[in-house]
Amino acid sequence: MSSLIIKNLHANVDGTPILKGVNLEIPQGEVHAIMGPNGSGKSTLSKILAGHEDYEVTEGEVLMNGESLLDMEIDERSRAGFFLAFQYPHEVPGVSNANFLRAALQARKPKGEELDAVAFYKELYAAMDELEMDRKFTSRAVNEGFSGGEKKRNEILQMMMLRPEYAVLDETDSGLDIDALKIVAKGVNAMRSPDRGFLLITHYQRLLNYIVPDKVHVMSDGQIITSGDKDLALKLEEQGYDWVIDAAAPAS
Ligand code: ADP
Ligand code: MG
Ligand code: MG
Repeated sequence: MSSLIIKNLHANVDGTPILKGVNLEIPQGEVHAIMGPNGSGKSTLSKILAGHEDYEVTEGEVLMNGESLLDMEIDERSRAGFFLAFQYPHEVPGVSNANFLRAALQARKPKGEELDAVAFYKELYAAMDELEMDRKFTSRAVNEGFSGGEKKRNEILQMMMLRPEYAVLDETDSGLDIDALKIVAKGVNAMRSPDRGFLLITHYQRLLNYIVPDKVHVMSDGQIITSGDKDLALKLEEQGYDWVIDAAAPAS
């Protein structure tokens, strides 16, 4: 069962219900996007998937290839093939990008098996070339003093090196400029594969011009209220969210 399944997920922040029964299935091989008005719970969902401690799951479950993601420790989620950009420390003073990635990859190897350093650097440089990153980034400390665009490139580089089975990218609050947007798109498009699933959380239909999603979901008030294909994103860009929210509301 190769999919990421979110089942009837309810969650509170400080005792206030934020997620009110989220249902979603992302099969490997597909790219799904979640859009929705500000405050609808999109980032809350990604933080729960990342294991953020401020969020209390009160009902429901998340299954990754049939296993409970929420029952895993955070580093276990990553080793099991789950990737969330901000799962990783924002800054790691004194630890170079290359060493950080080597350690993360080594941690996934079976006990006693050494990461092949030559192959590692070959792959790292190929990914960096694809993202048009300067080689000097390998020796710089993780995210220390990085600009917004450099951090974004680095996130995508981490994803490309860790080769997750499922990647969740929350682009809502990152103030993406057009260059950063293209970097994200390039990384995701290069990584699209039958054995990988993506969940893209975004406020911007623009991003979906560069990454064409298989499905688009709309979140409002802690639930997915409608789903469609890429045309739904275009319609939302043109007409806003009110018509979807009105259509989903019970008649009164
Ligand atoms: P979105 O990403 O869709 O804009 P969020 O998930 O960030 O929405 O927020 C959903 C709701 O939960 C908002 O009303 C927000 O104020 C509230 N919320 C989210 N995180 C916290 C938190 N850590 N503390 C208090 N309220 C929060
Ligand atoms: Mg927000
Ligand atoms: Mg958000």
